Amino acid sequence: MLTQNLGYPRIGGQRQLKKACEQFWAGKIDLTELYNVAQKIKEENWQTQLEAGIDLIPCNDFSFYDQTLDTSLLLGVVPQRYEAVRSQATDNGELDLYFAMARGYQKNGLDITAMEMTKWLDTNYHYIVPEFKADQQFRINNENIFNEYNQAKALLGAKAKPVIIGPVSYLLLGKEKEAGFDRIELISSLVPVYIEIINRLGQSGAAWIQLDEPCLALDLTKKEKEAFEFAYKTIAQQVSGVKILVATYFEALLDNTSLAVGLPVDALHVDLVRAPEQLDEVLSLIPDRLILSVGVVDGRNVWKNDYEKSLQLINLAVGKLGADRVIIAPSCSLLHSPIDLELETAIDPEIKNWMAFARQKLVEINELSQIADGNTELLAENKAAIASRRSSQKVHKQAVKDRVAAITDADATRSTAFPVRQQIQRERFNLPAFPTTTIGSFPQTNDIRQLRARFKKGDLTLEAYENAIEQATIEAIRWQEEIGLDVLVHGEFERNDMVEYFGEQLDGFLFTKNGWVQSYGSRCVKPPVIYGDISRPADMTVRWSTFAAAQTDKPMKGMLTGPVTILQWSFVRDDQPREQTSNQIALAIHDEVLALEKAGIGIIQIDEAAIREGLPLRKAKRPHYLAWAVRGFRITASGVQDRTQIHTHMCYSEFNDIIEHIAAMDADVITIETSRSQMELLQAFAHFEYPNEIGPGVYDIHSPRVPTTEEMSSLLAKAADLLPAQNLWVNPDCGLKTRKWPETKAALENMVAAARQAREQI
Ligand code: GLN
Ligand code: ZN
Repeated sequence: MLTQNLGYPRIGGQRQLKKACEQFWAGKIDLTELYNVAQKIKEENWQTQLEAGIDLIPCNDFSFYDQTLDTSLLLGVVPQRYEAVRSQATDNGELDLYFAMARGYQKNGLDITAMEMTKWLDTNYHYIVPEFKADQQFRINNENIFNEYNQAKALLGAKAKPVIIGPVSYLLLGKEKEAGFDRIELISSLVPVYIEIINRLGQSGAAWIQLDEPCLALDLTKKEKEAFEFAYKTIAQQVSGVKILVATYFEALLDNTSLAVGLPVDALHVDLVRAPEQLDEVLSLIPDRLILSVGVVDGRNVWKNDYEKSLQLINLAVGKLGADRVIIAPSCSLLHSPIDLELETAIDPEIKNWMAFARQKLVEINELSQIADGNTELLAENKAAIASRRSSQKVHKQAVKDRVAAITDADATRSTAFPVRQQIQRERFNLPAFPTTTIGSFPQTNDIRQLRARFKKGDLTLEAYENAIEQATIEAIRWQEEIGLDVLVHGEFERNDMVEYFGEQLDGFLFTKNGWVQSYGSRCVKPPVIYGDISRPADMTVRWSTFAAAQTDKPMKGMLTGPVTILQWSFVRDDQPREQTSNQIALAIHDEVLALEKAGIGIIQIDEAAIREGLPLRKAKRPHYLAWAVRGFRITASGVQDRTQIHTHMCYSEFNDIIEHIAAMDADVITIETSRSQMELLQAFAHFEYPNEIGPGVYDIHSPRVPTTEEMSSLLAKAADLLPAQNLWVNPDCGLKTRKWPETKAALENMVAAARQAREQI
């Protein structure tokens, strides 16, 4: 049976591309060296896939920064403001323009901002958002895709399969940069360029072309559906000699199933990891001419494939279509998986035997096809690994499961309603109007980072390490007192990352050495792996919170990360629903909340930075997610006394469509990111008449720029127009760990001054 891959990680097993790009940007290596690194990665990737026995191997999936940006350059979609960079062309040719679009350009008297970047559907990969004008023109603007195909063909022959983002998703994932038109209408001028590209690739020898259309698995309007029909009908009429594969992923086709199987293409790829239930409907509607690519190996996670489960799906498809109309594939591009499990030498061998990274997933795809063709010998080893995971004591802790099963609604409810708590808390803390606070972290200087690194390496004793962190904490507290902040934080100097810090202290998590995944450009993340039932063997934050609280008479906030954020930024278990894992984390954080309360901490912040990010792509699936995500937070925050004040914090989020759920979290105080939107994001709260206290960020922490007191005063005035002034807090948008001390000090002094002005005006 035929196999294919949809895309392979391009950062290199040792993050060579990241390092090379950063050196190139710093002027330390030249273009030739950068290209050499890229060429080596491409060839190694192709070789790896060839050796793994994959039949259709992607090319043009390599990118120096982002494949959507590559597509924009391929199609000549370059915003006017970058034309000046083109005219300053150096020997680097178009790459200067490319990186200028990705990262902004400040050179030779030019100062041009970068293009907008946003999350690629529901992943943590970020793409550069294409910008369209009403009279947008498209043309073949560079030869990269043809060159890369020729390189791939030299090595792979007929197996080389060029990959491009499909025309409809390319438009839908972009943005109109002027009013008065709908970007989907550009489809008629875009499709001819796609046809030209496809025909040229066909003439060069490509047998298959993969067009990624993830938007086919989203909620679509009638106009968008028509765009799909128009685009693929036109392509079918004007392309010859090349087979077209349309790839969907991350969701079920649902109401778009008949549209998808009706497109006049040669093959359709569906994600059967995220949505195995869609197979029945797809098989019942699929026409005779269409080949089905079944995505059965998870491209988004780190677990070994369960062959028996995959074979059930494969056999179902083969039973209906015959073996020659089924292709075995990963669920999506392997871009979202870490590269090679063999590089991990420190993972417990029992657990490592349950895992697979990108390289191992290729082998799985090949083995599945062999098994489906009758080589059942390959089944035994996989069966043993799956059985070992299913029954391992390292995964399954009965006490944790029992506790989750016993959670009641009462465990997810504060004992009294907000207005009562508010009164009690006001009497307890006696804060001024417009109380000031920060979100938790203070600048992570090189010194602080080195302290942690040296301690981890064993170059520093625990005592020396803790002394140094204590000093940093005391300094931060003295300084907060001096400038007159009302509710203090300890600064989070002991934390590397808001998820990793908790993962390291909870049972059920493991950490990889090399499990990097591209987040954007040269930035990679190394998410923790949740492999087992989660419990909290000991207090996690009490030591530092109580130390800090003892240094001051002002209230000191305890600082925790919430269950959805921990879940969202980790590789999660695939052997139980996310909801279940979330509840386990929620109980652990709940215990930590109670421990902090018992230790005398009166204000506790539980960050849920990623609650919006976890929202399912399809509207129909959102209510269920929101119900368990909100309940998870409520579990963490319940069981405390009325006098204990619970805060939560959320990073940049659109709240309009989820405001009732945010309100249902029932945090006493929520702090959110609003300054860049000029308080626009607060409208949702105003409209809803949000009843609890709220701190809309008045200071954009993403930039080193110091906001003036006047600016922050005017933002506060805007907030006070929208919401009752007695419910407002004054704080920055987010944590300050990426900032430097001088700008942080200046900005927070101005912020305190703005709060004082506001107090005088009421
Ligand atoms: N408490 C965290 C900090 O201040 C919150 C960070 C976040 O929301 N991303 O760093
Ligand atoms: Zn934040």
